[in-house]
Amino acid sequence: MKIRDILKSEEPHISFEVFPPKTDAGYDSVLAATEKIAALKPSFISVTYGAGGGTSKNTVSIASHIKDDFGVTSLAHLTCVSSTKEVVHQVIGELKENGIENILALRGDIPSEYEFPLPNHYRYASELIEDIRQQGDFCIGAACYPEGHVETEHKKDDIINLKHKVDCGVDFLTTQMFFDNHILYNFLYRIREKGITVPVLPGIMPVTNKKQIARIGGMSGTILPERFRAIVDRFGDDQKAMQQAGIAYATDQIIDLIANGVNHIHVYSMNKPEVAAAIIRNLSEIVKN
Ligand code: FAD
Repeated sequence: MKIRDILKSEEPHISFEVFPPKTDAGYDSVLAATEKIAALKPSFISVTYGAGGGTSKNTVSIASHIKDDFGVTSLAHLTCVSSTKEVVHQVIGELKENGIENILALRGDIPSEYEFPLPNHYRYASELIEDIRQQGDFCIGAACYPEGHVETEHKKDDIINLKHKVDCGVDFLTTQMFFDNHILYNFLYRIREKGITVPVLPGIMPVTNKKQIARIGGMSGTILPERFRAIVDRFGDDQKAMQQAGIAYATDQIIDLIANGVNHIHVYSMNKPEVAAAIIRNLSEIVKN
């Protein structure tokens, strides 16, 4: 099923994300975790893509299992910055052959060891989106950044670039994680004002251990509100307490989003079925998936 059709529903829905193993040795355990997450009947499950292209075959394979064996719609991420256009076209062909209808089209982070852009490589996700449109009847998602993308100095430029990307053929957007819903509401106001009207799925990350936090800050420049920092200060050294508090914080964000009319929420469940299950349990009377 195409995600753009799922997003027509006005009922609240939750989707989850998994990431493929870095090596083939981890494949079975990732697939087993994915099966448990699929058993929660989310609206779809997305599968990330290794920026260097190394896990591409696992992305296609896991996305196929989600759809064919676990009965859940899948969304395959696809990054383009580290691969030639021929390689990217080949992966698009594999997705088509496997009947995967939904692609999250991304540029990927610029590898520090290369010049950018290399000849015969894509420069921006918008170029990839134009190519995917030419190659088949896919539903195409793209990324957006409520706090601005790290490479862009001014948020207004990021929104101009986002408008161009959406106009290249995007059906829906998924946001980078954020921990203060006001940031999302402000972003939605600004993008709607600029004529970006496609559905936006907020990305919510249940933070379950202290190590994740350093990574999050370093990677995306995400603001961590005082209330969130207090939780980490108090519970960060007790893994079980941190997990419980992180799930409660994420649940709180989701309830506030739904209460404010945002019906489709994407949860960065990070291959952790117990975290995904706890979120679904906490929302049992709110989200009927
Ligand atoms: P783009 O949309 O191309 O934007 C990149 C930068 O270029 C931005 O600063 C933008 O403002 C600027 N820009 C865009 N177009 C123009 C233009 N025409 N002129 C000038 N500037 C322009 N990474 C992975 O490796 N694998 C994944 O699976 C993955 N999944 C993700 C899922 C989500 C929901 C999100 C939010 C991010 C994900 N990422 C993933 C990270 C992503 O690849 C990086 O954030 C990357 O740096 C930007 O990718 P993009 O598709 O947003 O790029």
